[in-house]
Amino acid sequence: MARRKKIYEGKAKILYEGPEPGTIVQYFKDDATAFNAEKKAVIEGKGVLNNRLSEFFMTGLGQIGVPNHFIKRLNMREQLVRQVEIVPLEIIVRNYAAGTMSKRLGIEEGTQLPRPIVEYCYKDDALGDPLVTEEHIAAFGWASQQDMDDILSLALRVNDFLSGVMMAVGIRLVDFKIEVGRIFDGDFQRLIIADEISPDSCRLWDIETGQKLDKDVFRRDLGDLKDAYTEVARRLGVMPKNAQPMTKPTLIN
Ligand code: 5GP
Repeated sequence: MARRKKIYEGKAKILYEGPEPGTIVQYFKDDATAFNAEKKAVIEGKGVLNNRLSEFFMTGLGQIGVPNHFIKRLNMREQLVRQVEIVPLEIIVRNYAAGTMSKRLGIEEGTQLPRPIVEYCYKDDALGDPLVTEEHIAAFGWASQQDMDDILSLALRVNDFLSGVMMAVGIRLVDFKIEVGRIFDGDFQRLIIADEISPDSCRLWDIETGQKLDKDVFRRDLGDLKDAYTEVARRLGVMPKNAQPMTKPTLIN
């Protein structure tokens, strides 16, 4: 069998050329990294969970009309997605203070923000994805004003959708990161959600206990990351069917 052409290998995913022009196969690895890959581990089964969870979120977003790259899941670790030209920004939406925002502004983790706050980071591993302003984005031509209007609207729609889905299963959506990409229809271009939406790129806290159910479990050595992601998948009814509820909290916030 002919080997597929690898287009790109990142920290958590590999992209292969898809079967049709304009498509890509996105393979979810078990690798976990944090602090710009200074901390690394292989968490068996993480890729399978993130493949299913990203499918779940992207499908739900598609059903409410939020355009995204997902086409179909191919197998346990792979999904077919639309090829996009990635906008070199990480778009972060925060509902509660945590992580770098808490550190930067001295706000206690878990403090509810007056409204969702959207931040932009320039996607560059070598620089550690620095926070940038819309001035930088416009001046360096990373995105136009129209793009920024569309990005803000997409980010807030994702936030409303994800917050609601999570709240329904007793999970607080603290913050998340998305990426967007351009697709071209003739002379027209539009922006769609790309990359992945999974517990690797969100902060998810149990509403009752404050238990962390996201990548902070790995970043901060709070317990078994696979257990945490399995718990999210189980509550959402995603998989695996026979997963048992977590019995041992990894952290009470
Ligand atoms: P913070 O800026 O507090 O580190 O992250 C804010 C949110 O964006 C968190 O949910 C975090 O998981 C997500 N995030 C920020 N940068 C990255 C990144 O480079 N990769 C991933 N997967 N998520 C990120």
